[in-house]
Amino acid sequence: MAKLYYRYGTMQSNKSNQIITTHHQYTTQGKRCLAYTTPIDSRSGHKKIKSRVGLELDAEYITDDIFVRVKQEHDKEKVYAVLVDEAQFLSKKDIHNLSDIPDLLGIPVIAFGLKTDFRNELFEGSRVLLELADAIDELKTVCQYCNKKATLNMRLRNGVPINVGESIQIGDEEYVPVCRKCYKERLELV
Ligand SMILES: [Zn+2]
Repeated sequence: MAKLYYRYGTMQSNKSNQIITTHHQYTTQGKRCLAYTTPIDSRSGHKKIKSRVGLELDAEYITDDIFVRVKQEHDKEKVYAVLVDEAQFLSKKDIHNLSDIPDLLGIPVIAFGLKTDFRNELFEGSRVLLELADAIDELKTVCQYCNKKATLNMRLRNGVPINVGESIQIGDEEYVPVCRKCYKERLELV
């Protein structure tokens, strides 16, 4: 049975690199694999997934008719996997549409994203993926300030931690992965 996968992590947890290498693994075996991202992320330029180690992958934007689009592609030529970057920004409806792909077409969907925003609240897309996904994996990275595992994203403005403002602000330089203890200490919550 094809599955809906959710692989979540903090900033700098290697998500883009993983999506690109997963795509590479499928295609080098001659297995067609479709890559998608969200229109809200213009950081990487138009329809491009970029990793910090310099790899790039062309991706289409997710739209309301994503299920139909994948089905049309699959009818033309067999699709072995669907990859989704920045899945945290998707709507509940988008995730439901994505979940139809394994259920009705038998194609696995592997979604990558951030679990929570800089206030440590779940993104909508992430919440629905945690509710619906068949398999959930955490991509790990280390806290910016100590040696513990990072579980939260801290927002920095001019190097100063803040936890106010809009939830969606693209641009890595303003966010760092931190552990819960450092998050509290830096924001003076303790
Ligand atoms: Zn820490």
